Amino acid sequence: MDTFGPPQRVLVRGEGAYVWDADGRRYLDLLAGIAVNALGHGHPTLTAAVSAQLGTLGHVSNFFATPTQIALAERLLQLAGAPEGSRVFFTNSGTEAVEAAFKMARRNRSGGPGGGTRTRMLALEGGFHGRSMGALALTAKAAYREPFEPLPGGVEHLPFGDTAALDEAFSAAAVAERGGVSALVLEPLQGEAGVRALPAGYLAHARRLTAAAGALLVLDEVQTGVGRTGSWFAFQQPEVGGGVVPDVVTVAKGLGGGFPVGAAIAFGERAATLLGRGQHGTTFGGNPVAAAAGLATLGVIERDGLLENARRVGDVLRTEIEAAGNPLVDGVRGRGLLLAVQLTRPVATEVASAALDAGFVVNAVAPDAIRLAPPLILTADQARDAARFFADVTVPDASAPDDRES
Ligand code: PMP
Repeated sequence: MDTFGPPQRVLVRGEGAYVWDADGRRYLDLLAGIAVNALGHGHPTLTAAVSAQLGTLGHVSNFFATPTQIALAERLLQLAGAPEGSRVFFTNSGTEAVEAAFKMARRNRSGGPGGGTRTRMLALEGGFHGRSMGALALTAKAAYREPFEPLPGGVEHLPFGDTAALDEAFSAAAVAERGGVSALVLEPLQGEAGVRALPAGYLAHARRLTAAAGALLVLDEVQTGVGRTGSWFAFQQPEVGGGVVPDVVTVAKGLGGGFPVGAAIAFGERAATLLGRGQHGTTFGGNPVAAAAGLATLGVIERDGLLENARRVGDVLRTEIEAAGNPLVDGVRGRGLLLAVQLTRPVATEVASAALDAGFVVNAVAPDAIRLAPPLILTADQARDAARFFADVTVPDASAPDDRES
């Protein structure tokens, strides 16, 4: 088999929270395709919805709308608490949702303070937003960026969680010297950076500054959205969002329960001017089968109380792993079912590999941290199985991170 990376195990089947490899070995899936399979594998409702839609109307061009697409857009707007006039732009991935937001930011150029132009975008160090050129310009990691420079210009990366740096970036002096700000793009909880939470009050402060400057507050919830952190969107939790109403929210990963579908949700009357008809487009975005997958996923999350389950089982995972007191484990952080196990030594790659050998899929998200993003259907007993692995795991030596994903 030829791949772009090192050889990988071949997975052939999944059911619920488990997957099986080509040799018939079973694994508890604590990664869910990197925060994707919200309903686990082979969920009957999702399978039926997708099959029925494919048999009814599999695709139309975006010269037309479909009932499924309209219903998913309406449902997303409702769940996001988006006001009258809000719009949804459908994509096939998180990166494309961010790319659409990037274009919206560029469209927010004129009308800056004193009639000036908004030529700068702000993002945060540690931020991950995808790897197409616009999204990559927002992504902070040098190793992802440098081979592809020059990237679209005008993006400044601010130190993570630093309110003073945010104040400086919006200051009159910075605007006079470097131009106005069209958008601030950030993850309410940084996923790829190792599940890092912003300090309390940061988002509310960011909202005040962006509103005053006419800049868009873009929340990238590709990883944190659709129930992953125990609410529909992470920003809706008072401890995370402080009650902010964003201008744009990007989602993908969990939305289709495994089917590729993403969206950029633009809030309020201003939405229509940000990405008007003819200014952006994609053949597959809004595909009825993908929309049916999205509707079914949201429907099951609601029907089966999976937001509550994510909070409850996330707590079990966190407390049981911490209570086990393995000297290799320094603590568990995150919200709901997006967690990182902090290790006391940089041996995450070894721990991830030992986990596979023991029948658990996890991810070395940093040299010294393991990410857990299991299906939202994970049971407390399955969480206890996972915790037992972390209670017992031992690793002799140090190692490097595994950053093949995303
Ligand atoms: N934004 C965030 C916050 C992400 O975590 C990711 C994927 N890790 C992306 C964007 C890119 O999404 P995708 O891989 O679906 O293109």
